[in-house]
Amino acid sequence: MNDARSTVDTPTSGNTGSRSLSGSMHAVIRRGSAAAGESPRVEFGSIARPTTSPSRVLVRVTTALLTPLEREVARGLGTDAAGPRVLGTSLVGVVEDPSAASSSGLARGTRVAVHPVVSCGVCERCHGGLALHCAARTILGFDDACGGLAEFVAVPSANLVALPKELDDDRAVFAVSLARAMQAVRRGGVEGKTFASVLGDDLIAILAAVVAVEENPLARLVAVHESTLRIAEQFGIRHRALQETGRRGDQELVIDTAGSAETLLAAARMVRPRGHVIAAGVSARATVAVELSHIALDEIELRGAGFGPLAGAIDRLARRVVDPSPLVSRRIALQDVPRVIPNLAEPGTFAMLVQVSR
Ligand SMILES: [Zn+2]
Repeated sequence: MNDARSTVDTPTSGNTGSRSLSGSMHAVIRRGSAAAGESPRVEFGSIARPTTSPSRVLVRVTTALLTPLEREVARGLGTDAAGPRVLGTSLVGVVEDPSAASSSGLARGTRVAVHPVVSCGVCERCHGGLALHCAARTILGFDDACGGLAEFVAVPSANLVALPKELDDDRAVFAVSLARAMQAVRRGGVEGKTFASVLGDDLIAILAAVVAVEENPLARLVAVHESTLRIAEQFGIRHRALQETGRRGDQELVIDTAGSAETLLAAARMVRPRGHVIAAGVSARATVAVELSHIALDEIELRGAGFGPLAGAIDRLARRVVDPSPLVSRRIALQDVPRVIPNLAEPGTFAMLVQVSR
């Protein structure tokens, strides 16, 4: 498990576009631990390349995706983990060393998407169908030793999903985000609700609204920024500015994708008594400060939604039911990631494609 955790050093300038020396690799690394009272800092550098083990398969990363989650990790989400951490929750790649994958039938060179939640496979939760909530789980790009913003990752074969030929890397790399969006909609049970809203301005908000509309044509996106409403328009989704929604409290379901105290409070105000609020945002420093009396008196149901299974998302992307191309704000190289991460907070910036290798 700790394969990639050893020495970290910064590469000499000028070699950033070159191949790493064998035994090491380039990666986007977060240093600084909240436990030690340090604020996190993100840098491009060189780190020991993870090796295969009986439990992990080596995957060469081809494309990664910068999402709002990467920004939150850079801001300190998951800083309880000891030692430097590689960023990147969303990646696609090819199986490089399949020794541990032989039982799963994935040959060297197989194109794969990687689920970021690494479970133990043996605990009670794993056996009980709750592997994503495994008591010993780690998450790539978060608190696992590996992350997708690197030349290689080592993951259990159970985390790999082979990609169909017709699905290119640029679309497949959205699988993790789309799976989160689908999970949020599933947890909300959007199909039976007349008034359902997704509240948010980020990548997950738009994807969740796209999925929600498939199951319920009346579902809408409520956002703050004009740029988000324009994208909703482009996807043919009903939309409304949050400032214009008033305080009717008439929604049966509101899915909040930002995960801040303010947006959760806004979501609780939008639902009717006994309505449902889905907390689907994963963010740093999201301490709860909602108006609990309102939730109590109006008997509002609050539910969480986290990562979902990848297979359904990959199927939707392959069949082009969902086309995430308009959500790519920029295409960048691995060494540019630390510089652009703050830009993920800009309105209208939903995701950036990171070309890691060919
Ligand atoms: Zn487990």
